[in-house]
Amino acid sequence: MSETAEFRADTRAWLQENCPPGARGAGLVPWGSRKVELPGDSRVWLDNMAAKGWTVPTWPKAYGGAELDPTQYLILLEELRRINARSPLIGRGVNYIGPTILDFGTDEQKARWLPGMARGEGGWCMGYSEPGAGSDLASLSTKAEREGDQYIINGRKIWTSDATHGDYIFALVRTDNAAAKHDGISLILIDMDQPGVQVRPIRLISGNSPFCETLFEDATASAMDIIGPINQGWTVGKRLLQYERSTHAGINISGAQGRVAETPLPEIFSRLLPTDDATGRILDTDQRAALLKWQMRQRTYEMTQRRAIEEAQARAPGFTSSVVKLIGTLLKQERDELHLTALGSNGLGWEGEAFPKEALKHTRTWLQQKSLTIAGGTKEIQLNIIAKRVLGLPD
Ligand SMILES: Cc1cc2nc3c(=O)[nH]c(=O)nc-3n(C[C@H](O)[C@H](O)[C@H](O)COP(=O)(O)OP(=O)(O)OC[C@H]3O[C@@H](n4cnc5c(N)ncnc54)[C@H](O)[C@@H]3O)c2cc1C
Repeated sequence: MSETAEFRADTRAWLQENCPPGARGAGLVPWGSRKVELPGDSRVWLDNMAAKGWTVPTWPKAYGGAELDPTQYLILLEELRRINARSPLIGRGVNYIGPTILDFGTDEQKARWLPGMARGEGGWCMGYSEPGAGSDLASLSTKAEREGDQYIINGRKIWTSDATHGDYIFALVRTDNAAAKHDGISLILIDMDQPGVQVRPIRLISGNSPFCETLFEDATASAMDIIGPINQGWTVGKRLLQYERSTHAGINISGAQGRVAETPLPEIFSRLLPTDDATGRILDTDQRAALLKWQMRQRTYEMTQRRAIEEAQARAPGFTSSVVKLIGTLLKQERDELHLTALGSNGLGWEGEAFPKEALKHTRTWLQQKSLTIAGGTKEIQLNIIAKRVLGLPD
């Protein structure tokens, strides 16, 4: 048996034994927050995978990983998909700041932060956007001033996802006010459970508050928790954004893959639309053609994802992450549009007993997915990056 075949067989056997039934199919995927209690099987699954080093499969063993290479990583993903297992852990810890610490952190910082992150201890938030700094992120004004062996932080961040349940936040802050816009910025780790950090939920039209305003009023952080060189946070922070985009795109091999089991679109179509009794074909030719076109694009995208992972020589993602994030987002949104058409007039329901539960749930998913055009850097910003950095067009 080849080494690869042996790895697959071992992986399959291990997963069969260690993935409990409650961790298979749709359900909760933990992101590490101490403030969220995990149901039994999710806890067991997370602990089992963390002990095996498979919450962060490519990380060094010393920091909680298993040092898998890209081929082994792909096998693990395939085997997880085969048993319809959910990811044991995802989030801004293992996917964004963890890989960034691996790239830029000191040995002390790696030893201090990474093993706990790999075990899902502590939920991480992202403190980048400010009321006056979104796409133009370098205009940020939250400042951190050195006092002895710590920094005092003052300012306001906005759109902080999950902040009500966050334990830590990584934030871009200004550490030198006199420097040019892109200089004088640093990336710092801050404990959110302190009086200097206040979180105000932002209520959306849906009634939910997925994100918040985060206010820093004389908040403190240790001087040991600046990641990368002081005042060079722009370089460090951009790398983190590439990890974010490659996570959205499903190609971040330096972290965990966010696998949320979903029903295949052809199955949804066959259930919702009239089909030919003998062949099972969808009768409406327009709907059938639209589904087929989407499936072909989705398949091509999956092959591109696979190639991107296979070719990942270095762990750090490049500008490909912008291409794949852009196309992946479009495909997710198109999937929801197609599902909506198949639902017909039911697809327009917001609330009320007249609409099937599935339709009401889908309306929310459909609208929520629209935000992906903005999250992780807007579509226009990705197009700018592709034009400049991939195609080499003039600035
Ligand atoms: C679901 C979701 C979750 C988020 N979570 C977080 C989080 O946890 N932490 C965090 O820090 N932020 C978060 N954000 C914020 C997100 O990063 C910003 O919304 C995004 O960077 C855009 O910034 P902005 O909203 O200020 O829009 P703006 O930058 O004001 O952009 C407005 C419009 O102008 C366009 N535009 C701006 N500049 C250019 C340009 N140079 N060329 C062409 N077009 C341009 C944009 O594409 C956009 O259409 C989240 C956003 C969403 C939607």
